[in-house]
Amino acid sequence: MRITAIAGGVGGARFVRGLLAHLHSSPDADRRSTEVTVIGNTGDDITLFGLRVCPDLDTVMYTLGGGIDDAQGWGREGETHTVQGELAAYGAQPQWFGLGDRDFATHIARSQLLGLGMPLSQVTEVLCARWGLPEQGVRLLPMTDQSVETHVVIEDDEGRRAIHFQEWWVRHQAAIAAQQIVAVGMERAVAGPGVLEAIRDADVVLLPPSNPVVSIGIVLGVPGVRDAVRGTRAPVVGVSPLIGGRPVRGHADACLAAIGVDTTALAVAGLYEDFLDGWLVDTADAEAAWPARLAVRSRPLLMSDVDAAAAIAGAALDLAVELQGDRASA
Ligand code: GDP
Ligand code: CA
Repeated sequence: MRITAIAGGVGGARFVRGLLAHLHSSPDADRRSTEVTVIGNTGDDITLFGLRVCPDLDTVMYTLGGGIDDAQGWGREGETHTVQGELAAYGAQPQWFGLGDRDFATHIARSQLLGLGMPLSQVTEVLCARWGLPEQGVRLLPMTDQSVETHVVIEDDEGRRAIHFQEWWVRHQAAIAAQQIVAVGMERAVAGPGVLEAIRDADVVLLPPSNPVVSIGIVLGVPGVRDAVRGTRAPVVGVSPLIGGRPVRGHADACLAAIGVDTTALAVAGLYEDFLDGWLVDTADAEAAWPARLAVRSRPLLMSDVDAAAAIAGAALDLAVELQGDRASA
C-alpha cells in the first residue's frame, strides 16, 4: 500500500509519527509493508544569518527521527543556545526566531549542500538519511525545489506592509490581523520531483490535522498539486485540526480569518470540497450540516501521545479503506 500525506509542521509530524506507529504494529501484512510519502510545506522557509531554515521539513524529520523536543513540538531535544547568545552579543538580527545549537547544524549542513547547487529535494533526502526515515519506509518530499515564501500583509503604526510569515507568527504571535496571505514565488514554482506522482499513484491520500491555510493551503497552491489531488483515484481523507471549533495549538483561527473562513470543522472541510472524500472530526464538532457526499466520522482527535495519534491515524486509514471498498463495489 502507498500512502501520501500532505503535511505542515507539528500537526503533520505528530500525525505521521502516529501513522507509522499504527502501520508498524498492524496485524495486517499489507499495512506493515506500506510506503509513506510526506509532501512537506516549504512556504515557512526563511533565510536567517545566511542559512536556509525549513521549519516544517525539520519538524517532520526530527519528529520521525526521534530527535524532536517533544514538549515544545519543534526544534531538537536537549538543545543549548550558545550560538544564538554569541549572535546576540554582536547585535546580529533577527533575535526573535529561536535557533538552538543542534538545530543550527542542520541549517549549516543544508545551506552548504544548497550552496553546492544541490536541489532542496536531494538535500532533504541527505538530511533524512541521518534520521533513519528510509528505514521506516518514509520519503519526505519538499513541495517544490523553488523558493516559495509565505508573506502576510498587515497594517499597524508603521503602515500597510507585507512581512514574512515567520515574523508575523513568531514575533507578533499572529496578534496583528492578517489582511492577506501571499505565497511569494508560487507562480514560478514547479512541484518537486515525485510530488505529483506520489499523489496520483497513491492508494490513499491523507490530509493530517495541519494548518489548512499556511500549511496544506500552501502545498495545494503549488501548480499541479491541487489538480493531482482532485484527479487521484485514491480516496482523500482529512483529519480536522480543530477541537471544539478551536485550533489545538497555534493560530489557525487567525489564518482562517485572513481568508474569510470560519473556524469550524465544516468550514475547513469546505476549503477541500473539490476533492475531499472522508473527513475525521472531533466528537465535539460532529454536529454540523455536512454535505451528503462527504463521509464524516467523529472521534476524539487530541494527539496527546504517540498512541493517541496512532489511533487517530488508524481511524483515518480505516475510513479510506471503507471508501475504497465503496468505490470497488460501485
Ligand atoms: P505547524 O506548521 O507547526 O503550525 O504545524 P501544522 O500546520 O502541521 O499543524 C498545525 C495545526 O495542527 C494547528 O491548526 C493545530 O490546531 C493542529 N493540531 C495540533 N495538535 C493537534 C492535535 O492534537 N489534534 C488535532 N486534531 N489537531 C492538532
Ligand atoms: Ca509551519
